[in-house]
Amino acid sequence: MANAKPDFDAVVVGAGFAGMYMLYRLRERGLSVRVFETGTDVGGTWYWNRYPGARVDTETMFYSYQFSEELQQEWEWKERYPAQAELSAYARHVADRFELRPDIQFETRVDSTVWDEDAGLWRVETGDGASTMARYCIMATGCLSAVNTPEFDGLNDFAGETYHTAHWPDEGVDFTGKRVAVIGTGSSGVQSIPVIAEQAASLHVFQRTANYVIPSHNRAMEADEVAEIKANYPELRARAKKSFSGNYFPVAGPSALAVSKEERDREYEARWAQGGLAFMAAYADFQTSDEANETASAFIRNKIRGIVDDSEVAELLAPKQLFLCKRLCVGAGYYEAYNRDSVALIDISETTIERITPEGVCVDGRVYEVDALVLATGFDAVTGALKRIDIQGVGAITLRDKWEDGPRAYLGLGIAGFPNLFTITGPGSPSVLTNMIPSIEQHVDWIADCIDHMRSHDKSRIEAEAEAEEAWVEHVNEVGDLSLRATCQSWYFGSNIPGKPRVVLPYSGGFPVYVRKCDEVAANGYSGFALS
Ligand code: NAP
Repeated sequence: MANAKPDFDAVVVGAGFAGMYMLYRLRERGLSVRVFETGTDVGGTWYWNRYPGARVDTETMFYSYQFSEELQQEWEWKERYPAQAELSAYARHVADRFELRPDIQFETRVDSTVWDEDAGLWRVETGDGASTMARYCIMATGCLSAVNTPEFDGLNDFAGETYHTAHWPDEGVDFTGKRVAVIGTGSSGVQSIPVIAEQAASLHVFQRTANYVIPSHNRAMEADEVAEIKANYPELRARAKKSFSGNYFPVAGPSALAVSKEERDREYEARWAQGGLAFMAAYADFQTSDEANETASAFIRNKIRGIVDDSEVAELLAPKQLFLCKRLCVGAGYYEAYNRDSVALIDISETTIERITPEGVCVDGRVYEVDALVLATGFDAVTGALKRIDIQGVGAITLRDKWEDGPRAYLGLGIAGFPNLFTITGPGSPSVLTNMIPSIEQHVDWIADCIDHMRSHDKSRIEAEAEAEEAWVEHVNEVGDLSLRATCQSWYFGSNIPGKPRVVLPYSGGFPVYVRKCDEVAANGYSGFALS
């Protein structure tokens, strides 16, 4: 049976940016590939997240593929932070340009994937009742794709319309004249609130935790800046790869405390004026020194007080937790939206949403009556999409059981007990702490090289060794616990999902260190993996 013939060399689950590139690379190396995708088109995150105001918050000349020089030269980005429609058009262009579609089966959900030890193959079962055998199974299911819908009492009894930001109707929603409630003030809430506020008759925002929001200062790309970036792409991309987050964010200095308050504030002002995530790289000690961290927090809180007219509302919007505890948000007119008479902020930090009634949202015995409810309540991050599929490895052990107390994976790429299964940007890799597309490309290239190595060395089975996995998980935890982020509640640790074990999900040692480790493992004949 060991030489049983698969239907495909590889099955890839998901046709987002990871799945598309994986398909491209494997096909280039001569493998037959089938990609299964739940949606009707490619794009993953940028297919599903169509909520009002949805746009990328990483500068897009760098949040884009770099594997094809022709692609990065020919594609014209229109905005500094393109909206969902432009990102989705880019994904479709990539699918067409590289003729990926014939190998992607859309509108097909993978329900289970089961390792057949005798055959040395994965049996992948899909929602259409079909079963597909493949030598390799590659999960390109995304880190922020399994939607979190809190179990609010009465949610199903709500008489109005209910939306989740990550499952927005394709045709859009017209809130004109409607009373709307938004629950959640993370990146999705922050982006959608000002846009919904422009339309709605009234908007109630239910905020459990205030976040730090840096203005995006989004604008059209100028022809000369695009030309300059394109002319220097290799150098700029290489420089970004050397940075901690895989982004090109210049760091002003090693410590916020090593400079005077005036100099520091000048730096913060410049970054606020420039806009975007580069604010988080101003000084290198935000994750290691409370005092340094507080300088950035205080600066942003003062900005909020300067923007929001009502001082009580401003105080509620001023975050109490450390800067960068949670993912930094980038917004456009977010704080300004609270100056509209039609927008009200409801603080639920000390209370909770008691229940949803047919009329609206009940907090502290008071019902806020609304016509539409928007859940901007995020995702079961990093592990959610994997655990929602019934993945069974050697001896029918399930991934859900193996990960009951938190995920265990080697480099976030392979899992002991699950041979020939790879996870793109899986738990224990830098993933969500980095610019996602370069991280995706690094994983895809590593997996494609690994499969190539196996084929050229006449190997058909690869499995992470339990000891190597154990040591890596320990390292991920050790490094994760060094950062101030570890003292907070956030989805980086699974704290947003009731009952989810508190575990460091992404590797926080930085992109360059991680890449070196992956390269070493490969150069040493895939040390820590058993090949046979
Ligand atoms: P999120 O950051 O997890 O925010 C969810 C919000 O819902 C939080 O304010 C959370 O409050 C609140 N919430 C969750 N459950 C609740 C409950 N039971 N009761 C009341 N409030 C509740 O999710 P997100 O905004 O969708 O963003 C997730 C990540 O996706 C981001 O951090 C970012 O990495 C990515 N993203 C990126 C972009 C972009 O590039 N522009 C846009 C959107 C998202 P607590 O904070 O108190 O838990």
